[in-house]
Amino acid sequence: MDLFDKCNEFTIAREAIAAGIYPFFTVLDDNSEGTEVVIRGRKVIMIGSNNYLGLTADLRVRQAAIDATAKYGTSCTGSRFLNGTLELHVEAERRLARFVGKEAALVFSTGMQTNLGTISALVGKDDVVIVDKEDHASIYDGCRLALGEMKRYVHNDMASLEKVLQSCPDSAGKLVVVDGIFSMGGEIAPLPEMVAQCKKYGARLMVDDAHSLGVLGDHGRGTANHFHLTDQVDLIMGTFSKSFASLGGFIAGDDVVMHYVQHHARSFMFSASMTAANVAAVLAALDIMEKEPERIQKLWHNAEKMRAGFKALGFDTGASTTPVIPIMIGDDMKTVMAWNALFQAGVYTNTVLPPAVPPNKSLLRTSYMATHTDEQMDRVLDIFGKVGKEIGLI
Ligand code: PMP
Repeated sequence: MDLFDKCNEFTIAREAIAAGIYPFFTVLDDNSEGTEVVIRGRKVIMIGSNNYLGLTADLRVRQAAIDATAKYGTSCTGSRFLNGTLELHVEAERRLARFVGKEAALVFSTGMQTNLGTISALVGKDDVVIVDKEDHASIYDGCRLALGEMKRYVHNDMASLEKVLQSCPDSAGKLVVVDGIFSMGGEIAPLPEMVAQCKKYGARLMVDDAHSLGVLGDHGRGTANHFHLTDQVDLIMGTFSKSFASLGGFIAGDDVVMHYVQHHARSFMFSASMTAANVAAVLAALDIMEKEPERIQKLWHNAEKMRAGFKALGFDTGASTTPVIPIMIGDDMKTVMAWNALFQAGVYTNTVLPPAVPPNKSLLRTSYMATHTDEQMDRVLDIFGKVGKEIGLI
């Protein structure tokens, strides 16, 4: 058996490419406006990003990244642990901790690395980590790296969570990890019930606010703030690859816990630190979030307009209540066909197939920006109406 046999046998993606219906790794020729991008020479409306506040196009954020590069160069060429800590990293940690209402924070080079490092550092051999079945892949991978056992509960089902908590030995340290806003379904985690259960069974709670920062809570402070439960949630995780218009991630919590993670998280200690440009963009985005909360109102206005529009057309938007709005289709091939037809008509969405979702639960993930215009959104709804009828989705 040759190691590479599996590569020769992996043909499904090649078949889709040959048939001209492959929806992944699309090259964007121009992404500078955010709400509209150029692909294969054509302008299309972007509703497949995580750019919730539209800040990748903001000139203040761009200038901050340029200035930081001019001042500090393009890379620290080392990890935070050794030669890769700038005053900018320390400032970002101070400000992010204050923003989400925690004592301390640590910035990692991606959100993925934040989850990998934090979960694997904290969940030791005799501990248990408990996850929602629809948690993000980076949470799952953090659990795989951890030495303790992983248990799963049915998505957003509090009776199922309680059963799992009951099944854990009293002697085990317990960590429950949940997406604040689920990245595909767009639902909000029921934190009040989760906090009560964690208290009852002596578990710690970590919320992945990748899709909630800049979206939920006062000035976009996230899910715990939205429910007025900041003090009851032990760890708040965020990424910079969404509302913060940058790249990187952070974890925030008690000082003593951050100190431990800083000295045990391997993805933190053995990977180069965020570039100065990325940190400076985060700080500029944070300034804007703190000073311009009206952007968040506009984001929610846009999300509600689109959700109502899709429902009026007869699309199934699942249980979403946020700016992440899935269009539930089910069949894989129909989903790919819908993506292609929408793209041809001028709208870019994201195709989500198994294993990112359960079998027969394929969907198109759509999401909105504060900077989408009414005219752009009306065009999207018009195109969805036409394509939906052509393909028999509505
Ligand atoms: N958590 C969630 C819920 C996410 O959706 C993502 C990215 N899609 C991540 C973590 C990883 O973040 P990053 O892109 O910064 O690695």
